[in-house]
Amino acid sequence: TQQRSSELFQRAESRTARNYKPLPVVIEHAEGAWMTDVDGTRYLDLLAGYSALNFGHGHPGLLRTAHEQLDKLTLTSRAFVHDQFADFCSELGDLCGKDLVLPMNTGAEAVETAIKVMRKWGYEIKGVTPNEANIVVAGGNFHGRTTTIVGFSDDPDAHNGFGPFAPGFRLVPFGDLDAVSAAIDENTVGVLMEPIQGEGGVVLPPDGFLEGLRRLCTERNVLWAADEIQAGLGRTGKTFACDHEGVVPDLYVLGKALGGGIVPVSAVVADREILGVLRPGQHGSTFGGNPLACAVGLEVVRMLATNQHQERAAELGVMMRERLEALVGNGVVAVRTRGLWAGVDIDPAIGTGREICEALMARGVLAKDTHGSTIRLAPPLVIEADDLAWGLDQLAEVVHGA
Ligand code: PLP
Repeated sequence: TQQRSSELFQRAESRTARNYKPLPVVIEHAEGAWMTDVDGTRYLDLLAGYSALNFGHGHPGLLRTAHEQLDKLTLTSRAFVHDQFADFCSELGDLCGKDLVLPMNTGAEAVETAIKVMRKWGYEIKGVTPNEANIVVAGGNFHGRTTTIVGFSDDPDAHNGFGPFAPGFRLVPFGDLDAVSAAIDENTVGVLMEPIQGEGGVVLPPDGFLEGLRRLCTERNVLWAADEIQAGLGRTGKTFACDHEGVVPDLYVLGKALGGGIVPVSAVVADREILGVLRPGQHGSTFGGNPLACAVGLEVVRMLATNQHQERAAELGVMMRERLEALVGNGVVAVRTRGLWAGVDIDPAIGTGREICEALMARGVLAKDTHGSTIRLAPPLVIEADDLAWGLDQLAEVVHGA
């Protein structure tokens, strides 16, 4: 029976704001790709904390690093420098091929940071009209939950009821290069886009879009900030989703997996001409770049530098794509994948995304729906091939109505 689960679930729901609609499961511990609830039932994790757990639960190297750092030093604030800071910034900068790193905590903070940096660059370097900077963003975007960010979201749930909003954003259809070009004017400082839209349902832009965007931004003297918070750090089979088209944005916006699923770590990474516009007192965060975050983040960067996880995501991704594509026309309307990441559009005739996720849960598989009928699959990159195959078998049986 699931007695403790159901009691704790109800108590939690009765004492928290209802800003999420979690599946009715209460997890107690986890290892690799497997989670165990308070009643001892095991579940295969096909969400990986929205890609924050790319290296799985309880990764031994990350845990060791975190434990060791906990015993030594956890916080100094940026008023003083600590011993983990130099290595984290330089090795993350090297991974990105950029000069400078500005660490923050959450993804939304890193996006806000990128917005501030692009505006300041616009006023100081490009020479746009004071207080008139604009930034081009994409329809279907998800960049976080701050009031500025939800102001340019076209998802009614994210946006409605939270105004007034900050001006200075121009929404164009995702993947439409002509629309981006038309939206750019003399006061445009940047384009802020996800290379692949995660929350949107793993939406891939048309082939060549990222390359075109790179060229366009260079030609028109605007910065491109790639929000790689969900797509980056191994998920797609490469370090960055931008790597699939061999392009380098002006600003990398990173988060989620950067903290190894242990601590919130985010960062904006860019060259000196760009991040150099910030001077003392103009931006900051009490916890941003703290010793624990830097120690864990450094270990993540070193793991990515071996390319081992990227290769594994690419390999397992081939198997996942083949199995998911076999479902199209059979309970599934469409599938989009890149690496170990998939958006699976469920045929509304067989149920909502939520209903499919509940049926999966009953079979010991945890995944999460996004936007009604889409299920996003983002297994930890360390998942065993057999476990992934088993999880996908469960999905096949659920959508086939077995
Ligand atoms: N940007 C992207 C692309 C995301 O997927 C997310 C989170 O899902 C965010 C930003 C916001 O990150 P956080 O929830 O850490 O603020």
